[in-house]
Amino acid sequence: MGTTLAEKIQSIRGMNDILPDETPAWQFVEEKLRQLMQSYDYDEIRFPIVEKTALFKRSIGEVTDIVEKEMYTFDDRNGDSLTLRPEGTAACVRAGVQNGILVNQQQRLWYLGPMFRHERPQKGRYRQFHQIGVEVFGLDGPDIDAELICMTARLWKALGLSDSVTLQLNSLGTPSSREVYRSILTDYLQENKPLLDEDSLRRLESNPLRILDSKNPAMQDMIGKAPRLMDHLDDESKEHFTRLCAYLDSAGIAYEINTRLVRGLDYYSKTVFEWVTDKLGAQGTICAGGRYDGLVKQLGGRDTPAVGFAMGLERLISLVDNDELEKHLKHPHAALLMMGERAQNSGLALAEQLRNDVSGVRVLTVCGGGSFKSQMKRADKSQAKIALILGDDELDNNAITVKYLRASRDSDKPQQEQLSQSQIIELMNKLVSF
Ligand code: ATP
Ligand code: MG
Repeated sequence: MGTTLAEKIQSIRGMNDILPDETPAWQFVEEKLRQLMQSYDYDEIRFPIVEKTALFKRSIGEVTDIVEKEMYTFDDRNGDSLTLRPEGTAACVRAGVQNGILVNQQQRLWYLGPMFRHERPQKGRYRQFHQIGVEVFGLDGPDIDAELICMTARLWKALGLSDSVTLQLNSLGTPSSREVYRSILTDYLQENKPLLDEDSLRRLESNPLRILDSKNPAMQDMIGKAPRLMDHLDDESKEHFTRLCAYLDSAGIAYEINTRLVRGLDYYSKTVFEWVTDKLGAQGTICAGGRYDGLVKQLGGRDTPAVGFAMGLERLISLVDNDELEKHLKHPHAALLMMGERAQNSGLALAEQLRNDVSGVRVLTVCGGGSFKSQMKRADKSQAKIALILGDDELDNNAITVKYLRASRDSDKPQQEQLSQSQIIELMNKLVSF
């Protein structure tokens, strides 16, 4: 009779584990992002992953994909409706208003973490995914819009992606100019009503601009001929847009004006942009953002101009070249073998000593004992540069044996040698700085 295995509990569809062989890529990209934020002097903010449902409904807009069908919403035990954050901007604004850090101040903030949307899982589209978001408050000029775009362009360069992405740009105007355009667009869509799909019919009254964002192939021709918001902009938005384009021109950042770019969230005004790639199939947008001058007030704060963007890390990481990532894999500098009981007793202390004395060193202790051969196998598998061997012989001689696994040694030296502890430290320092 065999033992029966308990049934395995699986993760939730679209919510992925990031396994040990994948985390180096994440750490590499996250490190690059942190350096990027530092180089522009932006500050990190952290807020909860759960918020009151009303926050997202009021900010993102009732008639949007996110609020209509993608939110993870549930009742808390006391009956409050809560939602796992589908994006960061609303929560960032909520935190800023609540903590009084937006009044009469300029804030340049960033955050990084998981977001949740109940979408159909596929490549580049998950139910738990990760974003880095950047939000700037208290600046209303196009110069800061340009800075955010420069920042993203710098990231593509740092990750070797400049040739894979293109920038699309549009202006949504002020709410009042958008009202005028909205009625012109509604008239046009009414005339073409037979061509509208179910989603679009529903949006015809509530949110006609979103119809321009439809991916339905059958509607593309009709959408292409629709009146353009760009032709109905108010003077202020027009000037803002012209100046933004001038900034980008002088920064040498190429862009394409896409008059159909409306973004999936209601809170945008004036500048909107997306960075897109043709390397990821249908999920081609890796970074999206824009200005949202009305949102802070709409969420109960003082009138505060704001602009920001969010970038999906899964899509970003899948674009980064594997060879590039390989270069950044972090293997141990040394694996310590402990042969016999005496060595096992003093081995961990030796490893601690190395970590004290050699800053930045990575030491793997081959715990659990075993034959020399099996310990060596584990050392080799770790891809350590050297093996440090501690046995009775070494303990008697107050020495440690070094076996060079991958590190190049001086050609006149043997492949294996006994060194004193201070010689070992000297060697390890060399390995770390190499
Ligand atoms: P899409 O049009 O692809 O649905 P979106 O307009 O809903 O994107 P935003 O809300 O603007 O996306 O989010 C910004 C970025 O976050 C996207 O460009 C993408 O990189 C990433 N993102 C959004 N939804 C997902 C998801 N379900 N899975 C993975 N990444 C996502
Ligand atoms: Mg979406």
